[in-house]
Amino acid sequence: MIKEVQIQIPAFDFNNEKKLNQYLHSFLGINKHQSFEFEILKKSLDARSKTIFYNLKIRAYIDEPLPIESDYQFRPQLVSNNEEVHIIGAGPAGLFCALQCIMNGLKPVIFERGKDVRERRRDLAILNKEGILNTESNYCFGEGGAGTYSDGKLYTRSNKRGKLQTVLEWFVQFGAESNIRYDAHPHIGTNKLPHIITAMREQILACGGEVHFSQRLTDIEIKSNQIQRITLNHHTKENVKNVVLATGHSAGDIYQLLYKKNIFIESKPFALGVRVEHPQEIIDQAQYKCVTRPEYLPPASYSLVEQVNDRGVFSFCMCPGGIIAPASTQENQLVVNGWSPSKRNNPYANSGMVVSIKENDFSNETPLGAFNFQKEIEEKSFIAGGGKYVAPAMRLNDFVNHQFSNTLPKCSYLPGVKSVPLYEVLPDFVYQGLQKAFYSFGKKIKGFNSNDAIVVATESRTSSPIRITRHAESLQHVQIQNLYPCAEGAGYAGGIVSAAMDGINIAEKLLENRNQ
Ligand SMILES: Cc1cc2nc3c(=O)[nH]c(=O)nc-3n(C[C@H](O)[C@H](O)[C@H](O)COP(=O)(O)OP(=O)(O)OC[C@H]3O[C@@H](n4cnc5c(N)ncnc54)[C@H](O)[C@@H]3O)c2cc1C
Repeated sequence: MIKEVQIQIPAFDFNNEKKLNQYLHSFLGINKHQSFEFEILKKSLDARSKTIFYNLKIRAYIDEPLPIESDYQFRPQLVSNNEEVHIIGAGPAGLFCALQCIMNGLKPVIFERGKDVRERRRDLAILNKEGILNTESNYCFGEGGAGTYSDGKLYTRSNKRGKLQTVLEWFVQFGAESNIRYDAHPHIGTNKLPHIITAMREQILACGGEVHFSQRLTDIEIKSNQIQRITLNHHTKENVKNVVLATGHSAGDIYQLLYKKNIFIESKPFALGVRVEHPQEIIDQAQYKCVTRPEYLPPASYSLVEQVNDRGVFSFCMCPGGIIAPASTQENQLVVNGWSPSKRNNPYANSGMVVSIKENDFSNETPLGAFNFQKEIEEKSFIAGGGKYVAPAMRLNDFVNHQFSNTLPKCSYLPGVKSVPLYEVLPDFVYQGLQKAFYSFGKKIKGFNSNDAIVVATESRTSSPIRITRHAESLQHVQIQNLYPCAEGAGYAGGIVSAAMDGINIAEKLLENRNQ
């Protein structure tokens, strides 16, 4: 018999197998001699009251075994001699598109400008230690895209836009922990993602697909609204059938190339701001109302939002127990982001804090208006930091009080931070929006406006400033028929899961459009 129940148990009992079994016997209404197996369908933490609970949705198999295979599994097949699809970019979108192409009997051929995950790690170390950026291999470019050395949070609000369960299941199949299937806020961690990405690549190759590194798309040739040839690092590839453009939101050169080729693109609203970092214990104390976080609770997080002068100001990509990372991709432009390892055991909690950027904030003279606006602030931030990817920063309470920080607290950002009045770096409306929002966040989270919290600029790559517009139905570009703009870089996704879902959607459309 299969039975589903919603249960609430004190968090301190969750890892105690015996206790958990007792709770389940009681909630399922079965006697203690009856055997059952169970799977968790949903798990969320409820820290609103003094006793902290887990809310669980459980499916129990009473006197019958658990099903062995999920309906969402990746099923490999050999596609070496099948029709090719050229996928540009090996981020979550490109990789999941390639895997779905294989399931659909198409042969994926991936071209990635960066290096494989292992080689890429060396370039990250040089950037962090010496402040030297490799513009082709960094936190955004290389195998696995911006998703590899990220936090690996797999939470998305756009779960209706695609096959969320498939994405989570494939992550598990390629090495992620099974709890990502049911956690309310699933997370993988930077230490585990490279192995998962490598396993995906090995599967693609084993099925007869191709993955080429250090191959940057530099040109495309179009005739009769069709891409005929693509150029990769100056080698030309003829007889191109379909091109999936999954180059992410940091590939500014792609936006410039499309603009130069008169391919329709448009500026779109996005969000920009700073990254804020607190000692993790401040967030734990505020969220769990405790002095020291008990071991059975995960490092606490927050999600904050405020409306200031008709603009949304919100926290973005919060990383408990994390590190602030240099996420620049171009020389002389400063971008920060955040990541955390699977255990989230660093002593700091960081989060993006961003202000919505609207259409009338940037010039509409060219379709690159929003991109140019973003670039200008990143350049200003780089200059303010004094080079070598040192980031301009302030104490959070000085930021709120509009005063220069004479000293800075410790910060996890490895290239280093420099005290700079950020009101001279950020546009006024961004600074003022953040200032007002921080003031009210301080009322929501005790200790938020602490002297030990730091504000680091700039968090500017939250989503794409450009849309590479496609038809809603066929997912083909509005003008170039065999071009499939995909995921974050095209303005149709934001985050790992939604990018992966969009990659799968594109592979499904490729098959559907071909069959039509
Ligand atoms: C440090 C950090 C932490 C993050 N944490 C999270 C998180 O916890 N959760 C979350 O959901 N999201 C997170 N993100 C964002 C997330 O990584 C992206 O939303 C996601 O990776 C977008 O997927 P994508 O495939 O569309 O693009 P990308 O991941 O950006 O991949 C694009 C790929 O295309 C390649 N490329 C670009 N131009 C070319 C070219 N001309 N030729 C060939 N290849 C090219 C790039 O090298 C890159 O590998 C984080 C990002 C960063 C940088």
